[in-house]
Amino acid sequence: MAGMVIIGAGHAAGQAAASLRQEKYEGPITIIGDEAHIPYQRPPLSKQYLAGEQGIERVYLRPEKFYADKDVTLVLNTRATAIDRDARKIDLDNGDSVAYEKLIVATGSRPRILNIDGSDLNGIHYLRTIADVDAIRTEMGEAKSLVIVGGGYIGLEVASVGVQAGLEVHVLEMEERILQRVTTPEMSAYYHKLHTDRGVHLHTTTGVTGFAGDGRVAKVLCGDAGEFDADLVIVGIGIIPNVELAQEAGLEVDNGIVVDDHCQTSDENIFAAGDCTNHPNPLLDRRLRLESVPNAMEQARVCAANVLGGDKNYASIPWFWSDQYELKLQMVGFSADGDQQVVRGDMDAHQFAVFYLNNGKVVAADAVNSPKEFMICKQLVGQAVDAAVLGDPDSDLKVLLG
Ligand code: FAD
Ligand code: NAP
Repeated sequence: MAGMVIIGAGHAAGQAAASLRQEKYEGPITIIGDEAHIPYQRPPLSKQYLAGEQGIERVYLRPEKFYADKDVTLVLNTRATAIDRDARKIDLDNGDSVAYEKLIVATGSRPRILNIDGSDLNGIHYLRTIADVDAIRTEMGEAKSLVIVGGGYIGLEVASVGVQAGLEVHVLEMEERILQRVTTPEMSAYYHKLHTDRGVHLHTTTGVTGFAGDGRVAKVLCGDAGEFDADLVIVGIGIIPNVELAQEAGLEVDNGIVVDDHCQTSDENIFAAGDCTNHPNPLLDRRLRLESVPNAMEQARVCAANVLGGDKNYASIPWFWSDQYELKLQMVGFSADGDQQVVRGDMDAHQFAVFYLNNGKVVAADAVNSPKEFMICKQLVGQAVDAAVLGDPDSDLKVLLG
């Protein structure tokens, strides 16, 4: 009997399988994944797992036993090579094929690759998988100098782990400021100072032109901006959504696999979830492609309900988090949508929230070590508020919830 098939064994896939059983689906579920591991979470990879503070069993989304208990078939180390929509089957790289009644595509994304002189030298790594981090950790133990290309989330989280491990760390960012793609100039400045104070060397408007070394990387070359000694290089310059399988099957793709608010693709039997989707957000009135765990999980739940004939809409305000040093940054909404900023708390004491309003309504917030403010703000998005109350640290934010 053809049942539910999920391509990709990442965060969205693991959640989709669990949600299908929570929805009381009793038929076959098959997850096809090209990595060696059962579904796992990527956030610890640039944080606690990289630092050696968290074992692999806590990286896995659920213990291996879960899949046996719930009768979920895991086809790992295996790549789906084609979706035959007419025959409703998936071809695999081991020559097998798997029939589906409904299909969930959760192929995620892959690192953008630097293709410049010397980029094939040993010691240059990307960071997406457990296998990547295992290789990095081995080399990190021997290294004295670490150069990170890209001042985004991966770059800064790895910088925090690296400098705390005693490495000399340089971060090279092409843009004028770190985290330019995801936050305001004020928050970028805050994180710039934080990293500099902790001993990280940050170089903005600095692009890499090549790598040099004899078999193994020894220097990172940046043209007029100079060169940097490196025993180890980690590149975090963004991702590319894995859409090729869907595209080759003739599904609509446009900066991600195009889905509707039910996570349904242009084929009524195929749904998609996670990093690979371009989806509508009715609350923000625009289409988005998001790279975050909350998005992958929520879309997986929506897919699971709807492949079973449900009528569940995806309508969530995006939220994100990042751990650097002892600081937890939590973000909701898009700060670029704001026309007014209100700071609550003390930035110098590393405990504050910045609220972003547009026309008097809350549109976003960035909270550092302020989980209570963050939880309340998540509920305030879209609501008109008294900015004076927001900004007064002695006021009780709950009064704004009405
Ligand atoms: P993925 O987790 O990428 O899973 C997709 C899987 O499908 C992969 O294993 C891929 O190899 C496999 N696959 C692709 N094509 C095929 C095929 N044809 N056949 C078989 N298998 C295939 N988000 C946050 O919200 N907070 C964080 O703190 C955070 N930290 C992160 C840290 C790191 C280092 C990384 C890399 C990402 C982080 N993210 C974080 C982003 C988050 O992990 C992703 O948004 C999330 O993993 C997306 O889930 P997904 O299931 O869509 O994709
Ligand atoms: P990212 O957040 O997109 O940051 C990459 C940064 O590198 C961008 O600022 C980018 O600038 C810059 N860059 C691009 N090319 C460069 C070059 N040649 N030289 C120097 N800098 C360059 O991506 P990431 O940090 O690589 O993370 C990868 C994925 O993991 C993303 O999906 C991210 O969301 C996810 N992740 C999330 C978290 C979290 O949520 N806490 C943590 C880690 C990873 P441009 O914008 O101009 O390209």
